[in-house]
Amino acid sequence: MRDFSDSLQWLSINTATLRVQWPLDRIIQECARRGITTISPWRDQVNAIGLDNAARCLRDNGVRLSGYCRGGMFPAADGPGRQAAIDDTRRAIDEAKVLDAPCLVLVVGGLPGALAGNALHKDIVRARFEVQEGIHAVLQHARDVNMPLAIEPLHPMYAADRACINTLEQALDVCDALEGPLDPSGARCMLGVAVDVYHVWWDPKLEQQIHRAGRGRLLAFHVCDWLLPTRDLLNDRGMMGDGIIDIPRIRGVMESAGYQGHAEVEIFSSADWWRRPGGDVLDICVERFHRVV
Ligand code: ZN
Repeated sequence: MRDFSDSLQWLSINTATLRVQWPLDRIIQECARRGITTISPWRDQVNAIGLDNAARCLRDNGVRLSGYCRGGMFPAADGPGRQAAIDDTRRAIDEAKVLDAPCLVLVVGGLPGALAGNALHKDIVRARFEVQEGIHAVLQHARDVNMPLAIEPLHPMYAADRACINTLEQALDVCDALEGPLDPSGARCMLGVAVDVYHVWWDPKLEQQIHRAGRGRLLAFHVCDWLLPTRDLLNDRGMMGDGIIDIPRIRGVMESAGYQGHAEVEIFSSADWWRRPGGDVLDICVERFHRVV
């Protein structure tokens, strides 16, 4: 396993971690100042400062991307709704290209309307079908511009409102269905997965499915921790080391399956980390990255 104890080369900061404290340009500058050269920004944070400005700020500070968040949210009540999600994900692919991201992360969506608190139907099988159709509809554009898509399975507690793909196995089944079986050479695929320890740590098939994904489909690795107790389903993620996820073990499995990319710190925390000074949060991310990732 790679030694992270004295280098920041493989640390990436998902910019949601600092979304309350700073705008994106400040996040980029503060990362660069600390020797953190990789981030993964969210679209709304990019749009808030402008796409071209974001690209320039990255260049000026020598900061690159480990991914771009996010496309997806495919299921909808009707055809125009589904088409809007497809069009929006195509735009996200184009933005990812401008920012020179290595992949676009897909959070695929759940029951239409559920995110706003009012699901329009209860048919999760249909939602999963629409997800697969949606990814199919954007895949050719991703190929045309050479932007790999990383399906992020989310913990089952988000199946209704955020993502009805909830295990790595399910995500890889979609990859295989749309792209065919893996290239035995281990070449990087156009369709793969983002493995977020928060979402998958509990999965009895985790190790097996990480090996199934292999180097070709392992496009991103997100870290944070699962707190006891968890006080909010969405915004109570812990700093690495503060919870019960055995992060080094999962990273070890990732690396034994061929993953050689970044560990991306992604913490949504309305009661704790979003309330602290941004500089403190970054410094602690660095310290924990060295010590417990
Ligand atoms: Zn994630």
